Amino acid sequence: MSIKVQEVSKIYGKQKALDNLSFEINQGEIVGFLGPNGAGKSTMMKIITGYIPQTSGLVEVNALDVSKDSLEIRKQIGYLPEHNPLYLEMYVKEYLNHVASIYKLGNRKAKRIAEIIDLTGLGDEQNKKIASLSKGYRQRVGIAQALIHDPKVLILDEPTTGLDPNQLLEIRKLIINIGREKTVMLSTHIMQEVEACCQRVLIVNKGKLAADRKIDFLSAVKSSPMVEVEFASEVSIELLQQLNDVVQLIELGSKRFTFVSKKDIRKSIFEFAVAKNLVILEMKSKAQNLEDIFHELTV
Ligand code: ADP
Repeated sequence: MSIKVQEVSKIYGKQKALDNLSFEINQGEIVGFLGPNGAGKSTMMKIITGYIPQTSGLVEVNALDVSKDSLEIRKQIGYLPEHNPLYLEMYVKEYLNHVASIYKLGNRKAKRIAEIIDLTGLGDEQNKKIASLSKGYRQRVGIAQALIHDPKVLILDEPTTGLDPNQLLEIRKLIINIGREKTVMLSTHIMQEVEACCQRVLIVNKGKLAADRKIDFLSAVKSSPMVEVEFASEVSIELLQQLNDVVQLIELGSKRFTFVSKKDIRKSIFEFAVAKNLVILEMKSKAQNLEDIFHELTV
């Protein structure tokens, strides 16, 4: 287990930013942490990286308790915070040198900086001032500083926000490349981002976990018919799960559900309802797109 989050809550004054959140991330996974603004993504990432403490619950990185071993944890984690704070007046290589000194890389420093410049595609920019770089290249510098000490786990907070489409593709490629060797957790509020880079998605909403799914669930959803059904009275999701051919059941309320299936199952839903004495008030087919799913999971 690379990252273990168990029943974590965070309260800022009266604001509950995280509400009993639990999940685990395995070694070598690239996991998307998806949610609308204010969902608690940055807060969770700051806690995992040891920058702020949780109010309650347990967080472990590589089996070390983050609240007890924060120095050791920082050696094992690379972190790109939101808004990527960089020293704009420094030159790229000078900045990476500075970060490498903080991590006390000693005589490995020059070799490691060269490797990281190569990996992040900063060869042509290494002697430029950070202030003169485009947003995409600044993100590369942010990722380079996060990787300089060769951490096992990389935490990237909104790494592609504000990039133009070309820069976005380049940074995604870089993340996928890095993910071959490391555990990566990246936050985003864009569903397509997760689909492009990640193997798994954790959807967070109002500080709670709304879903934890393998990414092939998204492709299954995209190519699958969806039907929204409203029953006259409350129905348990367990009962509806008995229906064949359902890929995913989304609870919209105690009487309303979206059925995602491999084929058109409107007839089966109707027959199932009759057999189980359930009255259907409304049944409608829906357009299938990722944003709908995201919206339904996070309203
Ligand atoms: P996200 O990264 O998903 O946009 P955040 O973790 O930044 O969400 O914020 C979660 C909630 O906690 C928001 O309602 C935000 O206003 C609140 N919050 C975040 N940081 C602080 C803070 N330092 N003090 C008070 N409230 C905060």
